[in-house]
Amino acid sequence: MVSGSDSDGGAEVGAFAPEDVRGVVGWALDKFGERLSLALSLGVEDSILLHYLDELSGGRGPRVFTLDTGRLPKESYEQLERLRDRYRLPIETYFPGTIAVEDLYRRKGPLSFYNSVDDRKECCAIRKVEPLGRALEGQAAWLVGLRRAQGPSRAALGRVERDPENGGLWKVSPLAHLSTEQTFALAKSLDVPMHALHLAGYPSIGCAPCTRAVEPGEPERAGRWWWEDAAQKECGLHGGRSQ
Ligand code: SF4
Repeated sequence: MVSGSDSDGGAEVGAFAPEDVRGVVGWALDKFGERLSLALSLGVEDSILLHYLDELSGGRGPRVFTLDTGRLPKESYEQLERLRDRYRLPIETYFPGTIAVEDLYRRKGPLSFYNSVDDRKECCAIRKVEPLGRALEGQAAWLVGLRRAQGPSRAALGRVERDPENGGLWKVSPLAHLSTEQTFALAKSLDVPMHALHLAGYPSIGCAPCTRAVEPGEPERAGRWWWEDAAQKECGLHGGRSQ
């Protein structure tokens, strides 16, 4: 059984051992069917989820989408190509609204996110949060690669939670209980394609201008919005939890 919170629907996933990622993906697939989506951030966690979802669904059914913010590193596009080549499930891409991005540039220029937390959150709202809302329309649940070990804001993460920021649909985090070491070991055992930046000192990967490598001993997400106070690091995709 799982310790800690697996709120609401978690009573059902509580039957799966903490390391049973495949079991929870299968549970979500059975429970939500075609109204389940995988939000693919292209990092190692989501590549594992795509692997299991493709295997368990036979390559048919649940939607897989990624958000192209327009500021991704080229290695993320290369990873997207590797995943497209490897798996059968089609991967949809959602972009930010052209008018909103043009308006942001007109008002504040292309690097406004370095000015203040509010300006950074404005960019994330335009490039991530609004497209995510469109991607999740009509869905009952989404699969995400969040883990408790990624930082204090995720320490109480349950494998199944309601997502008030996205209409109250279910958010399922099958890797919630895995350490970083367990996650990379699982990816290796499954031979999932690996994002090149993971091999270059980036445990967490986001937009190019907002992500750097971390030094040994630094927190896993220290390279995300590194110029901000740690308590401010959220972009709105996961409420108080950053993607
Ligand atoms: Fe904008 Fe940076 Fe947020 Fe990407 S991570 S949407 S570039 S502020």
